[in-house]
Amino acid sequence: MEAVGSSSGAKYECLLFDMDDTLYPLSSGLNLACRKNIEGFMLQHLNIEESEVPRMCLELYREYGTTMAGLKALGYEFDNDEFHAYVHGKLPYEVLKPDPVLRSLLLSMPQRKIIFTNADKEHAAQVLKRLALEDCFEGVICFETLNPPHQLLPYMDELDGHSPVLPEREGEPETQCFSINSQILCKPSVEAIQAAIRIANVDPNKTIFFDDSPRNIASGKAAGLHTVIIGSSTLVPGADHALSSIHNIKEAMPEIWEGEEGGQVEQVIQSTAVETVVLA
Ligand SMILES: [Mg+2]
Repeated sequence: MEAVGSSSGAKYECLLFDMDDTLYPLSSGLNLACRKNIEGFMLQHLNIEESEVPRMCLELYREYGTTMAGLKALGYEFDNDEFHAYVHGKLPYEVLKPDPVLRSLLLSMPQRKIIFTNADKEHAAQVLKRLALEDCFEGVICFETLNPPHQLLPYMDELDGHSPVLPEREGEPETQCFSINSQILCKPSVEAIQAAIRIANVDPNKTIFFDDSPRNIASGKAAGLHTVIIGSSTLVPGADHALSSIHNIKEAMPEIWEGEEGGQVEQVIQSTAVETVVLA
């Protein structure tokens, strides 16, 4: 096939995946457990009125992308690492099982594949390990990527190491506090999505963004990405496709696999990535 009006012939060069409730279903219960832990943190560490907590937790999540970002925006002061440790430290990760079907689908996709999650790197590493998808992605753009302590945006070459998760910046203590006034950069802000596009160094026009959040999808479209809402059988505003499960991707979007024979699609499957987990 002839390339039309593009430098590389490939229609899509990169696939940007949200992780939670996108690579595994909402029905796993992890999301609910996470919300319960966030509510516990709000109650115990921030002394928020118990009757207010559930509503506030949900409203902030909807308004700011994460409850954490919302709490910061409201002026609550707490250490980001402490929050993440509290919320993710006791999640029932065992509910997530290796997904060999998704694994082989991902490995057969000829595009670059990158995780783009609002979660922190520790949670991302846990989830990818449990799903046995650690080596399916070139890198992970996560909380620490978009919110580095010194406001320096890391670049994609830092994602090329042996670990699929962005490493801690050198010389920074793990417990370093963020500026209490700093806003959290996360989806669904269009700015966060543009930052991810920059960090991944992709052309949004040739990138497909998968996410289960309608707001993230709307912002993804505003940033110029092709968009797929996951966990929904109907389109939402800004979505180009709707998939009730990521497992249906090959039937719904065969174009991802097209053009492979032209040899134009960059193949960046890291078969050498360190596998720290053995399937049970
Ligand atoms: Mg999600």
